[in-house]
Formats: sequence, structure tokens, C-alpha cells
Amino acid sequence: MSGMPTMVIPAPAILGMLGGGQLGRYFVMAAHELGYQVWVLDPDADSPAGRIADRHLCADYSDEAALAELARGCAAVTTEFENVPAETLAILAESVPVRPSAAAVSVCQDRIAEKTFLKVHGLPHGPFVEIASLEDLRNAPSHLFPGILKAARLGYDGKGQAVVDDRAAAESAWVSLGSVRCILEAKLPLDYEISVVLARGQDGAVRAFPSAENRHRNGILDVSIVPAWGSVCLADTACEVAEKLAGCLNYVGTLGVEFFVSRGQLVVNEMAPRPHNSGHYTLDACGTNQFQQQVRALCGLPLGDAHAHSSAVMINLLGDLWFENNQEREPDWNTLLAIPGLCLHLYGKQSPRIGRKMGHFTIIGADSKQVYEHALKARTILGMPDA
Ligand code: ADP
Ligand code: MG
Repeated sequence: MSGMPTMVIPAPAILGMLGGGQLGRYFVMAAHELGYQVWVLDPDADSPAGRIADRHLCADYSDEAALAELARGCAAVTTEFENVPAETLAILAESVPVRPSAAAVSVCQDRIAEKTFLKVHGLPHGPFVEIASLEDLRNAPSHLFPGILKAARLGYDGKGQAVVDDRAAAESAWVSLGSVRCILEAKLPLDYEISVVLARGQDGAVRAFPSAENRHRNGILDVSIVPAWGSVCLADTACEVAEKLAGCLNYVGTLGVEFFVSRGQLVVNEMAPRPHNSGHYTLDACGTNQFQQQVRALCGLPLGDAHAHSSAVMINLLGDLWFENNQEREPDWNTLLAIPGLCLHLYGKQSPRIGRKMGHFTIIGADSKQVYEHALKARTILGMPDA
């Protein structure tokens, strides 16, 4: 515990949310459940969260008038995505509590700052080097090849990165990435990937949700399995590392920490200063979900119980499912919804696009094997490839 005094914001205060995507939408719902109002700032006129917010400020994240309005109207502000300019958070923080802080978000939004932070705090991470020029690439240690070259900023869902087998491939990839500041990481042999979503309160109290095993397809999260199938000991260590990390960041809010398990060793991959896609299962399998924890941490309320009452498998629904032979179609919800324990979530997005996250479903139940079998059946019904 940090022993910091807690500032309680009672409902029906107005809370500010930077970003109007599906994560923001669930925040709005969680805040509404607890009697709060939410103003959403998002430049998209038709954003999933903006649609259900009490007020949608349709403006850019650096729009000074909109930021001033938000700061004037809201009792506290939080974010649903890490690419809000840290400057925006800093401006808001001058007149309204912002949680997580601009400092914490700026660590998570820059892959070099992120990995350096892990290194400085003695947290497990893979080998990496900063690449700001071709010269840096030429001097990069050879043990980083084969590697992954990633733009330091603004990457997500596998975008802004390239696998590079050798130095020559890295040089052309660096140019293709726009010759921007990059990180070169060694390409680790992955046993599997897990994540920990936790919430940390203003008083330093932490509640970690059970860790999830995550499988990706085309760089986008496809499946999360809870409890993670791998070693229980590693899953517990992952929770401890995530808690330590949150403490080092002096973090307030919901935090997602992605891990690799590589040759039996746990390595932090990246952090998300917000609820995480792999924590969506908490909406249906936990007493308190990751969005309600975000509201509670923001408002200085006690964090809720993070234990899972059920096993769960979460599957993302991408826009791809709305197309067959280039024709738009509606997925077969009728058959899907007949599956026991299936909870369907759609985000209200108007136009499906290939790779766009349109929704997800979670199957919950007492028996993790049966839950997984039902998940496979659901994938077949929707015409999805095997997990
Ligand atoms: P994003 O922000 O797109 O999620 P990540 O850094 O998490 O970026 O990379 C996406 C995926 O690429 C990871 O989940 C993992 O499967 C793979 N990956 C990324 N970095 C490495 C690495 N250093 N070694 C092996 N695989 C990696
Ligand atoms: Mg990732």
C-alpha cells in the first residue's frame, strides 16, 4: 500500500473518457451501473462509446477547447487507449484528476520506454535495442536476429512490426516502417502467451483477475482461455510480476500485462494502461468486471472481488465473419445463441470490415474442458477456422 489518501468521487458525478471504442463503451456501461455520468471525447462522430455516453465531445484529442470543456465538466478523467497524446493527459491533469497518470501512460505508449522501464525495475523482459537510424541497425548485436522490428509508437494488433531474419531484412523493414524510431527485439521461441489484467486503487490495493492464455491470429487476439492451461506456478508468478509492475508505475486504474512463456521462462511482452481484450471474459465470469474496477479505481471506491466463478473461453468476432464470397451476410446468431453458457457481445459498430473487432463471445461453465469444446462448436457454427 502506498498510503496515499483516497479521493472519493461519489455518483452521480461526471467522469471523462478519452476514446470512444468498445473499451470505452463498457466503461460507460459500468459507470452507469454505479450511477455516474460519462462524457466521451472521440473524433469519430459514430463511436461505440460516444453513442451511449451522456455526452459525446466530437473533437481531436489535442483540441484545446474540448479538453478545457472536459476538465471543467468532469470530476475525473481516464482513458481507453494508450495512444492518447501524453501531452493531452498532462494538460487535463493541471485541473482535473487523471488516472492512470500521464507518466504511466507515456511508459506504456512507447515500446522503448516500456522495455527500458522493465529493465530498470528488474522485471523480466526479452533482449532489445533501440533503433533510431540505419547506423543503429548495423551496430545491433547479432544475437537479436532473427528478430522483430517494431515501431516504438502507435502499433497495435500486430501492425507496425515486421519479423526480420537478418540485418539486411531489418534494414528494408525499417524503411518500410517509415524510418521511424523502432525497437528491435529478439524473436523469442514462444511456448504460449498469457496475460494478467489487474486493477490498482489510489491506496495501492491491487486485485488481479485470473490470468488468461491467449492465442492470436494475424496479429490479432483470437482466443483467451481462463484459467490459463499452462503451469499454475507461472500463472501465479505472472500475477506477482504484474502487481509489482503496477506498483512501480504508481498505477491507478485497470492495467493489462501481456507475457510470453519462452522455454519455460516468463517474460513481459507489453503493458496496456487500460482494460484489455483478454480481460473481456471478466464481464461474464467474474463478480466484478475489469471495467467496473476501472470505474472504482478512478472514483476511489473499494475494488471488487476479482476471482472467477466459472471457467471461460473468449473468442473475438472480427468483421471477416460478416462476409462470404465477398457478399455481406449476417452471422448465424440463432444457432450460436443456443449453445449453453454462451454470452454474446456486439459493439454496435455500423460497418463490418476485415480485421475490425465487431464483438466477442464468452462461454462460461464449471468444466473448462467442456467450455472449450463448446467454444470449438461455436467457431464451427460461425465458419471460423480452428483455434
Ligand atoms: P501488439 O501491440 O500489436 O499487440 P505485440 O508486441 O504484443 O504487439 O506483438 C504482437 C504478437 O507478436 C505477440 O502477441 C506475439 O505473438 C508476437 N511477438 C511480438 N514480439 C515478439 C517477440 N519478441 N518474440 C516472439 N514473438 C513476438
Ligand atoms: Mg500485444
